[in-house]
Amino acid sequence: MLHVSVDNYGITVDDESKKIYLDPNKQPHSDFIFISHAHTDHLYKSVRENSNKIITSKITHKIAMHRGYKYGDMYEKHDFKLLDSGHILGSNGLLIEDELYYTGDISIRKRAFMNPAVIPTAKILIIESTFGHPDYIFPRFESTIHNANLIISEMYHQGIPVILLGYTLGKAQILTNVFRHWKPLIVHDSIDVMNKLYSEFGINMDNYVTFAEAEKNSMLSSHKPWLLVAPMASCRNGFLKYIKKKYGALSIGFSGWAVMPHYKFSLGLDYCLPLSDHCDYNDLMTVIKKCNPEKIYTFHGFAENLAEDLRILGFDADPLIYARGKRNTFVKLDTFF
Ligand SMILES: [Zn+2]
Ligand SMILES: [Zn+2]
Repeated sequence: MLHVSVDNYGITVDDESKKIYLDPNKQPHSDFIFISHAHTDHLYKSVRENSNKIITSKITHKIAMHRGYKYGDMYEKHDFKLLDSGHILGSNGLLIEDELYYTGDISIRKRAFMNPAVIPTAKILIIESTFGHPDYIFPRFESTIHNANLIISEMYHQGIPVILLGYTLGKAQILTNVFRHWKPLIVHDSIDVMNKLYSEFGINMDNYVTFAEAEKNSMLSSHKPWLLVAPMASCRNGFLKYIKKKYGALSIGFSGWAVMPHYKFSLGLDYCLPLSDHCDYNDLMTVIKKCNPEKIYTFHGFAENLAEDLRILGFDADPLIYARGKRNTFVKLDTFF
């Protein structure tokens, strides 16, 4: 019988024979560690060498190493099942003994080259709840992209450059891929690094120049339009403030949080469109129905709210709370973008 608990390292699942940590926030003294994907709020800094059996996908392992995390080799002789969670390239959920399913971060929508998550049936479901509140319902992916193309088209018509903003790993590659028909397409150098990793795994990421190359070759101007994919950040300072001032560019932010009007203003964005690599509230309900669990645990974001809503619907659901009574939200910077 599998048992779920939470300690200062994160979520654990154990039975008499083994203990596995799910996306721990620091290196635990435990046999198995599952790393669902390479966003930094799901990675931990290794302090002891090769003392854990790391279960993850090849792609996640490669991206994590590239981001400076040192995990030693992946452990492959295990009985766990890794299932595509549709969140970013290489992201997986974990099925333990066909009994417990941990989603990691999850999306069930086809988005460009990203496929929807594969969802098994399981008795116990541990589900992320970043957007586990009914305020967060996203439009169709195609509709968001269509609206973005309308804005870009209008700006190009007026000769105004446009900056597309999304999280550096995951969202930015979707933006690079989906808007590649606009020329010239320029990509911030930190995103170029991630794009190259995606290319190595077969995702078409060419047809752009990096920001450094564009500047060097005088491709940027305030009179001729161009499109730049850059990391999501506030437009009130740093790189974005500089670009907007120098070239009169307008910004479009892409995030699930865009459904809340204050998000756009809090980051000083000109436009903000809802596009997420997570499930919205209805998608979460779809995952739960497909999984058909007897027991549900929620984690991340609106964990308490989603568990409460599920209990009203007749499910046995609890949020995962830290032992010290703190909400189990880990380090959440990734999820705000
Ligand atoms: Zn993530
Ligand atoms: Zn996350």
